[in-house]
Amino acid sequence: MKNSIELISIGTELLSGRTLNTHAQTLGAVLSEIGLSLSRDTTIPDSIKTIQSAVREAFERVDIVIVSGGLGPTSDDITREALAALFNRDIVSSPSALEEIKKRYAARGYPMNPASERMALIIEGAETLINSAGAAAAQRLDPETGKTLFVVPGPPNEFAAVLNDHIVPWLRKNFPDAVPLELRVLTTQGIGESAIVTLLENSTFQCSPALPVLSEAEGRELEGELSIGFYPGFGRVEIRLTAPKKKAALLDQTERTLRKLLHDHLID
Ligand code: AMP
Ligand code: MG
Repeated sequence: MKNSIELISIGTELLSGRTLNTHAQTLGAVLSEIGLSLSRDTTIPDSIKTIQSAVREAFERVDIVIVSGGLGPTSDDITREALAALFNRDIVSSPSALEEIKKRYAARGYPMNPASERMALIIEGAETLINSAGAAAAQRLDPETGKTLFVVPGPPNEFAAVLNDHIVPWLRKNFPDAVPLELRVLTTQGIGESAIVTLLENSTFQCSPALPVLSEAEGRELEGELSIGFYPGFGRVEIRLTAPKKKAALLDQTERTLRKLLHDHLID
């Protein structure tokens, strides 16, 4: 199974500038910790055709897709219908999800209604993932061998709860050899990106967009293992170095070299 994952964030409000899409950040941080990568985040409106084409296209690139949003009880929540039709499945009520919703309503003294029961609906054949932070059930579906789809409610606290309670344990079990990345951050002030690059290019530190090469031999060893990113903002540039944890020695060495070269401009 490929170790990159795609997220599809569903919600018309996410595209209108009214709601900040926070799921990519939440998911990206969690995946980096495990040693997996979030390779794409696609944000789309609540539209059946768009949901179906986005999921179909994502599965052409990766084996694991996480879809969020559109699982509530209102008429604009059409995610499960879109997905069930895409995979030629019925929609069924999940007994365990319904049980949870009843408990949740009883605890708050709310009466059940047909709309609340809709939040227990899942795609036929999917596994119910109980949402500890809200009523709408999450689910995991294997539409075909080797392909896994997680369908997760949109509210950020519910997305995080399902991620931590269900998706992370599943990923850890399925990717026992994943190697987390280690991150080093250097912060400069009062020097622009182009001046930084010029300084580095005029030194022994040769800097390609994704790969610093210290020497030919080290370069070979580093290939594909260590990456460097430049993130300017507010008069500062953050330089982030990442490499698999087992490459910590190379990371140390690269960081030392960079700190020496940028010494006069570093604030952190
Ligand atoms: P939904 O699951 O589509 O009914 O969304 C429920 C709530 O979660 C709404 O207030 C959405 O705006 C919010 N929401 C859904 N997706 C996201 C997202 N990717 N980032 C932040 N908020 C979201
Ligand atoms: Mg929505």
